[in-house]
Amino acid sequence: MLAQLTLQQGTVYDIGRFTSARFGGVAERVGFVSELEGRVSSSIVDRLADQGSGPVLGAEGYVFELERRGYIKAGPFVPEVVLDYPDAVRELHREFLRAGADVMVALTYYAHREKLRDVGREGDLEAMNRQAVRLAREVASEGDALVAGNVCNTWAYDPDDPATGQTVRAMYTEQLGWAAEEGVDFVISETNDYLGEALIAVEVIRDLGLPAMVTLAPTQPDQTRDGYGYAEACRILAAEGAQVVGLNCDRGPLTMLPLVADIRQAVDCAVAVQPVPYRTDAAAPTMETLRSADGDRAFPIALDSFTCTRFEMAQFAAQARELGVDYVGICCGAGPHHVRAMAEALGREVPASKYSPSMDLHPMFRADVAAKDAAFLHSWSA
Ligand SMILES: [Zn+2]
Repeated sequence: MLAQLTLQQGTVYDIGRFTSARFGGVAERVGFVSELEGRVSSSIVDRLADQGSGPVLGAEGYVFELERRGYIKAGPFVPEVVLDYPDAVRELHREFLRAGADVMVALTYYAHREKLRDVGREGDLEAMNRQAVRLAREVASEGDALVAGNVCNTWAYDPDDPATGQTVRAMYTEQLGWAAEEGVDFVISETNDYLGEALIAVEVIRDLGLPAMVTLAPTQPDQTRDGYGYAEACRILAAEGAQVVGLNCDRGPLTMLPLVADIRQAVDCAVAVQPVPYRTDAAAPTMETLRSADGDRAFPIALDSFTCTRFEMAQFAAQARELGVDYVGICCGAGPHHVRAMAEALGREVPASKYSPSMDLHPMFRADVAAKDAAFLHSWSA
């Protein structure tokens, strides 16, 4: 099972580590020994507990990216692509895997009964959910990634109407039942607006015997829509059995990190943070509140000009690690270049590092730029 990839700087990256543990073999190590050596394990809990290997790196934002690529309709944002263009999903998984993502998240975001009804595909519910897990596992097995099942806010929950809790429970039970049958290593319940809805997910995941990562969508200034401070909500989720708690989506790094610092103080379990790569700030703390110069709402399909550079996301990854975050990731708006920069900021060399920038080889930026080209440089600087 041994394979090697030659990286820049002449190192040899041993991807035998990707396969040796999962298949029980012992890979012969040749040349470069990755700093990730020893982090291979079969459970998210083990990986998070392995302090020496640094945070688990997550990569999400599948819906936004596949919408940009023309495979998902903005508005409903239902992942019909899973059944209609499975190769597009495989490819994006593979790009995130090569960029260093430790987890392949099954694209079942919004693949629930409520949303599929909106687009007239309720009959495809089971097939879409099963196929999404198969695609994630197929690509995860090309490396050493874990596979996460995925559920999200349902838009069906109302804290003042107990009957809606039963509806949500039924939706999660059928989705995650299929995911568990197809084989997932843990489940990510994400973009939760309500603690009450997130707790239903925790119960369903716990009943399936799977580890739960539960993240809240920090759309409000400091509390969930059912009135719990984010840190307090995370403390309750952890007490109810979530192995990983935290925040994802909606906020960019600048406005998400302070909330995460509070959560880190409030819980003993692992903490996750997966911001959107957009430049939110005090005036517009979420991507939903960002406005263009002429005052138009940028969310969700005109956010491009607010996109963080790879360098900003690399800085975020380092800051999150510094705060003691255990699961560092990225959400809507993510591209593989962000993920690779984050992996490298965490000290990792990943398959896509083979093509990391070498600006010293750029014809116009190299130290020994030719005289004929140097003449143009002043126009580039003007
Ligand atoms: Zn997101």
